[in-house]
Amino acid sequence: MSTQPHTTTPQDRSDDEEPLLSVDDLRTRIRTERETIHAVDGVSFTVNRGETVCLVGESGSGKSVTCESLTGIVPQPPAEIIGGTVEFKGRNLLEASESTLRSIRGTEIAHVFQNPQSALDPVYTVGDQLVEAITIHEEISESDARERASELLRQVGIPNAPTRIDDYPHEFSGGMQQRVAIAIALAADPALLIADEPTTAVDVTVQARLIELLRELTDGGMSVLLITHDLRVAAALADRVLVMFGGTIVERGPIEALYSQPAHPYTRSLFDSYDGLSRRGDRSARGDIPTDGCRFRDECPHAIDACAGGDQPPFYTVDDRKTHGASCLYYGPEHDPAPILHDDAAVNTLIEEPTDD
Ligand code: SF4
Repeated sequence: MSTQPHTTTPQDRSDDEEPLLSVDDLRTRIRTERETIHAVDGVSFTVNRGETVCLVGESGSGKSVTCESLTGIVPQPPAEIIGGTVEFKGRNLLEASESTLRSIRGTEIAHVFQNPQSALDPVYTVGDQLVEAITIHEEISESDARERASELLRQVGIPNAPTRIDDYPHEFSGGMQQRVAIAIALAADPALLIADEPTTAVDVTVQARLIELLRELTDGGMSVLLITHDLRVAAALADRVLVMFGGTIVERGPIEALYSQPAHPYTRSLFDSYDGLSRRGDRSARGDIPTDGCRFRDECPHAIDACAGGDQPPFYTVDDRKTHGASCLYYGPEHDPAPILHDDAAVNTLIEEPTDD
């Protein structure tokens, strides 16, 4: 097993093509009256064209704040983006004006949130909202836009789309509202879809349909950055996985490699405690994560003195392909990872896809 340090940034490139999105050392803090939370604490990753990258981790790990920081939709204040770069098609979005960001949002980068109501206006029909989303970004006649809106509804699995297009959001079920929200996000044919827990509020049948839809989109060339705490959803969709803990990425790698051999002690604990939903609380809100050294050291059964102090450990390769890395000293040149990898309790079978039972 190789223990050479992982190349730092940009990382995990699957080919020679420039990544669509390249995030480097992103830092976002949130100030409350009581404390300052380092919600995103030096996050770096890439998303290639046509690729699905999943950010997994428990509630409060920084997944959503990371994604909301990319296009500046994180509420500022209380949040403040204090460092890093977010290169999208060669532009650093952190230096872009608000008008530039506004034109990118919804056209080139679209967001879908866990709660579809946030994307739907209750006083307009879904057709009106879709037509508006289409015509804002494209010179197209009203009738053609309406036809396209109907086609989008059909694509996301709304039955009787030509009729339902004139319904209001409250006339749809929660799962259908989520699909309508996805249709609105897709209206401008974005290059990157950022989907934050899009399948959490729906039943397993709708979840399976949404997963199928997201697969079709990436087959068509769209890139997806998917936030989920559901390891089965990540298994069903991801090309690569980024595991977040305490505002940092602690493990990253291709889905097959990471799921067959979770390497970081936190990832292994995540798999061990998995019951379909995270059982852990909101750590960031409790502010009980170290702000230096390895962020996981207070809970790590393998922690040694060297894990305290300094910064989060660098990424070391876990396998010979150098695509799977863990931010843990045990994979560095001075240590042997055997005590971690021989922990049989962490063996998992979560590569299976969601089922209806
Ligand atoms: S660096 Fe140390 S504390 Fe952090 S995961 Fe590795 S062994 Fe545990």
